[in-house]
Amino acid sequence: MSKGKRVIVVGAGPAGVLTAYGLAKQGAHVTIIDREADVVSSPRATIYLPSTCKALDTLGLLEEAKTLGPSTYDYQCFFALTGNVGRMSHKLVEDLTPYHFILHFGQHILAKMVLARFLALPNTQICWSTNLVEIAENDEKVVAVVDTPNGQQTLEADWLIGADGARSTVRKLIGASFDGFTWPDTFMAANIYFDFGLHGYVPSNMISDPVNWAVIAQIDNTGLWRVAYGEDSELSEEQRLARVDQRLRHWLPEGAEYTLERANSYRVHQRSASSYRVGRVLLAGDAAHATNPIGGMGFTSGIQDALTLIDCLSSVINEHANDDTLDWYAYERRRIFLEVANPTAIEFKRRTQESDPERRLEDERNFLEMTANEDILRQALMSVFILESRPYQSDWRDTLVKQDLDQQTNGKTVVGGTSSTLRRTTEIE
Ligand SMILES: Cc1cc2nc3c(=O)[nH]c(=O)nc-3n(C[C@H](O)[C@H](O)[C@H](O)COP(=O)(O)OP(=O)(O)OC[C@H]3O[C@@H](n4cnc5c(N)ncnc54)[C@H](O)[C@@H]3O)c2cc1C
Repeated sequence: MSKGKRVIVVGAGPAGVLTAYGLAKQGAHVTIIDREADVVSSPRATIYLPSTCKALDTLGLLEEAKTLGPSTYDYQCFFALTGNVGRMSHKLVEDLTPYHFILHFGQHILAKMVLARFLALPNTQICWSTNLVEIAENDEKVVAVVDTPNGQQTLEADWLIGADGARSTVRKLIGASFDGFTWPDTFMAANIYFDFGLHGYVPSNMISDPVNWAVIAQIDNTGLWRVAYGEDSELSEEQRLARVDQRLRHWLPEGAEYTLERANSYRVHQRSASSYRVGRVLLAGDAAHATNPIGGMGFTSGIQDALTLIDCLSSVINEHANDDTLDWYAYERRRIFLEVANPTAIEFKRRTQESDPERRLEDERNFLEMTANEDILRQALMSVFILESRPYQSDWRDTLVKQDLDQQTNGKTVVGGTSSTLRRTTEIE
């Protein structure tokens, strides 16, 4: 298999632009294609957990990122059943890691910032309004067929990265399934101008309640906050938008005035691609795995995919390693999603939406006990770094995989759910 430097990245979301930027910095010749005319800027991820801040630092992006939004420390969980509030602060681990803070700003702002840096590097380009429709691959190269405003064209490269989101065309074209399930509920993301900070909220808040659950987080320094909550999947988008004010009243102080910037709904999934690599084609970000966003595991995992892929692919391109490192990438990122990100996100969702009063009280007790024990709390705050990949080692199949298999309990390699009524499928319908 030839190891040329030409890379096509499909998708200018956070996973795609970060991978493209990191590879270009290592000497790859990178073309990003995206079917949209610009970076998608609908309300999406806004929280940069400590592992993401560390990844941005590794890529030399953290200092600029810090200028784009507030750095914060505090997290609160409101237990609606009792009215109690649990609190924790990342400051508690400032002696353990330099990344003891959270950054807040929209993911589209990150994508734009990274794109500007990417395009300033040699041998880089981005093609907007360019929709991937077909891939052909042989031992020498990969050929992408794209629809553009000027008609259908072909692009050739040595490697192609599918960072084209949860409904990935790349994933379908390489024949990978997207195993798991779609949750029955619909999530709303509403961005509003209202200073929750003046009304008992900290920058990151979770409200635990079976009906009026919410995640409320500061988006930036302009007074914009995100309220994410659950909506009825039977309603039309028009009906959901018409109810935004009525729903927001559950979390706003009485009589509060606010300005709605924008709102949209989305369905959430727990799914993983059956393989993250087929030959010259690799998957990253939501194209590889999808999860509900409570706890921020999806965006956060996608950033770690980018970091690992930059490392592995650039070492192949620069002939420091053979393409076994790409198999490692595919194995390690899939393992971390299935063993860490996916069950964590399912558990976050359960705790936020739990309806059984006994379990709600138990969750509250566990949370308050954790925050009362400094050692356990410090461990919990550091646990986000488990999303990072282990370093490549050439004997990984005989050592790390074996060790992982020994540790696995039944069910860890499939996308697990919390209810037998969830319908497992091999693609998003
Ligand atoms: C409404 C909403 C709210 C969210 N809120 C949160 C949150 O609060 N916290 C959190 O952690 N996560 C959240 N997420 C999830 C988070 O946005 C994703 O994990 C993240 O966007 C994944 O980044 P990505 O780069 O993998 O893919 P994406 O950001 O989806 O980017 C994919 C890109 O590929 C392009 N593309 C797709 N198909 C093609 C094709 N055939 N040819 C060319 N280009 C193509 C698209 O135009 C897009 O630009 C939210 C998601 C949504 C939809």
